[in-house]
Amino acid sequence: MDAVEELLERNRLWAQRVKESDPDLFSALARRQTPEFLWIGCADSRVSASQITDLPPGRMFVHRNVANIAVPSDLSCMTVLQFAISVLGIRHIIVCGHYGCGGVQAAMSDEDHGPIDDWLNNIRHVHRVHARVVEGASDPREAFDRLCELNVIEQVRNVAATTVVRNASAQGFEITVYGWIFDIKSGKLKKLCRHRPGAADPEIDPEAPSALQSLG
Ligand code: ZN
Repeated sequence: MDAVEELLERNRLWAQRVKESDPDLFSALARRQTPEFLWIGCADSRVSASQITDLPPGRMFVHRNVANIAVPSDLSCMTVLQFAISVLGIRHIIVCGHYGCGGVQAAMSDEDHGPIDDWLNNIRHVHRVHARVVEGASDPREAFDRLCELNVIEQVRNVAATTVVRNASAQGFEITVYGWIFDIKSGKLKKLCRHRPGAADPEIDPEAPSALQSLG
């Protein structure tokens, strides 16, 4: 069986398993979706939203791109955000990055990566804004980790500052934006920050690395 045929076979077995454990799930999902969470994450194959949170289909609305960037110039991301809030009524938005992110690593190097560099400029901007924290790291590995974390916090700030989130908050919809990071080595998610409805800035989680505490 070739690799692509294997996908179809795996799908057939998965659908069979799900139907056995929850016979009504597919017919309920076919009627409507009622996800409670919007996930904005990296496209990296190791950070699959529903899989790492162990959720069945229908619970998580997902947008992924290189390095989990959420900027108002990205029409696709803004469309997902508006649909999630206005149509699906989602109130919990999670921006999730991960350590070892290739996009963040590329943004830290001076090499020419082609057109992706335009996208990565969003991370270079985060680096410039937080140069003190990144350059204050004890070694390049730690600096890389800090920038992965800072990128999440800044994307949380970006999401909270969008017109769609601010308008929804003004109308009394309590939207909270969470910043998390996934540690591929342990398979665990870590909290970095949380932006409460109407707040000016995200609050840094007390368990986030000490170098980030000064941002809160
Ligand atoms: Zn990544």
